[in-house]
Amino acid sequence: MMNLYNYTLTQLENEMVELNQKPYRAKQLFQWIYEKEAKSFSEMSDISLSFRDVLKERYSLTLPKVFLRQDSTDGTMKLLLEMEDGAKVETVLMRYSYGNVCCVTSQVGCNMACSFCASGLLKKVRNLETHEMVGQILVMNNLLKEEGKGEKVTHVVVMGTGEPFDNYDNVISFVRIINDQKALAIGARHITVSTCGIPDKIRQYGKEGLQINLAISLHAPNNELRSKLMKINKAYPLETLIPAVKDYIESSGRRVTYEYILLKGVNDSLECADELANLIAPTFAYVNLIPYNEVIENSYRRASHETVKAFQDRLIKKGVNVTIRKEFGSDIDAACGQLRAKHEGKPQ
Ligand code: SAH
Repeated sequence: MMNLYNYTLTQLENEMVELNQKPYRAKQLFQWIYEKEAKSFSEMSDISLSFRDVLKERYSLTLPKVFLRQDSTDGTMKLLLEMEDGAKVETVLMRYSYGNVCCVTSQVGCNMACSFCASGLLKKVRNLETHEMVGQILVMNNLLKEEGKGEKVTHVVVMGTGEPFDNYDNVISFVRIINDQKALAIGARHITVSTCGIPDKIRQYGKEGLQINLAISLHAPNNELRSKLMKINKAYPLETLIPAVKDYIESSGRRVTYEYILLKGVNDSLECADELANLIAPTFAYVNLIPYNEVIENSYRRASHETVKAFQDRLIKKGVNVTIRKEFGSDIDAACGQLRAKHEGKPQ
């Protein structure tokens, strides 16, 4: 049995043709499940009873289950969701002034093994299916609806556990579905995919013809330091990453954002800021400085507010567009993968 939330509109049109139906059935189904939020095939009153039976036999409308929920005083909601096979993943909703941002997980665990990240504490078990990512948004929307304020998820960042470009096809289908006017209609400019930096996938993403944002987790301005923080840099060092970003900008016409966590005494010096400005100069990019969420499993500490400010000022002087990421959920398990790691137990 396939999950209906797994299909892009084009894929579902092909399915309908296979079932000897007119392709417009796909639009009709999209309307039922996304616009009218139907929870069962029985509700689909303009579809014949006999075809509803066919649909029921072939497709499910199962959503992830809420296994655990943490609410922060700042409105941040963190969920531990359980998939049909029992796999558990984290999804977070953050309330910004401009909208509700949902942070989506792309894999169960992660193999990238960045030394500062709690997600990598648990190795990758499997990729998430497209419907399991769509499901994260739908569950959030359902919970928001229960609150009765007529709110929905308006922005999506694929920055939860996992490396989205290690699950490329499913992530692209997910993005196409949530971006589709007939589905969740989340604007491309409201969607960001974040990668630790896999050059061939960055190039491929630039050619998808989507206007989605791309964020690159950089975190260091040179190979020596970056390889210490991020294992992926040994496979794809900066001299392979930066040209891929350049190619991406050329084929997509979009600018990228570099994410840079400031770790006390590690990558937060003014020399690092200078080196960073020089490194990214050819890619006219934005920089998002991230205050580190400390995790007890490692010895990294967050840089002080003054250090962050000085780092930012130095970049501004060098002509770099730079912002500091706003923090949410500091009273709950905010760091990536923290809640799940706590729940599943640490690996040996
Ligand atoms: N694998 C992708 C997406 C998931 S991580 C990537 O690497 O981009 C999303 C972002 O959160 C990355 O920039 C990651 O480096 C950052 N991150 C991980 N652990 C963190 C922590 N403890 N505090 C702050 N940011 C963290």
